[in-house]
Amino acid sequence: MIAFDLVCRAGAHRFEGWFGSSDDFEQQKLGGLLSCPVCGDVAVDKAVMAPNVGRKGNQASTARRSADGEESVAVANMPEMPAEMVEMIGRIAEMQSKMLEKSDWVGDRFADEARAIHYGDAPDRTIHGSTTIDDARELHDEGIAVAPLPLPFVPPEAKN
Ligand SMILES: [Zn+2]
Repeated sequence: MIAFDLVCRAGAHRFEGWFGSSDDFEQQKLGGLLSCPVCGDVAVDKAVMAPNVGRKGNQASTARRSADGEESVAVANMPEMPAEMVEMIGRIAEMQSKMLEKSDWVGDRFADEARAIHYGDAPDRTIHGSTTIDDARELHDEGIAVAPLPLPFVPPEAKN
């Protein structure tokens, strides 16, 4: 299954669609089987990737915050990414969410929690959350495992 972020033309409503393949998406779209859950518009396109940009609390792996707190993202001036790439990202997204099923979301307490686990002050388990680059470096220097997630992760509290 592949998840695509979709957007309707009428109201620019964004929603997520799950498909068996990239072709499956095209067929459903051409057959008028896709419609916006908000307004029912059947003119639906894939949303530009990096859909989580600017969403509160999200730490997009491609997002960078400059010294003045301005958030920026890596972009390219293409109408859309190659289908193979979109499909591959879909697969990575699927693998990432499977991997995280057995992991505890700790939000921005990641650095503290990872440290507590490392020093035996908290139960040994896999956790994921967000941290600053400086904190990640410090953890690494202390010998604590930190790996960046390949894709942005939407915190459970931001999904509603
Ligand atoms: Zn709509």
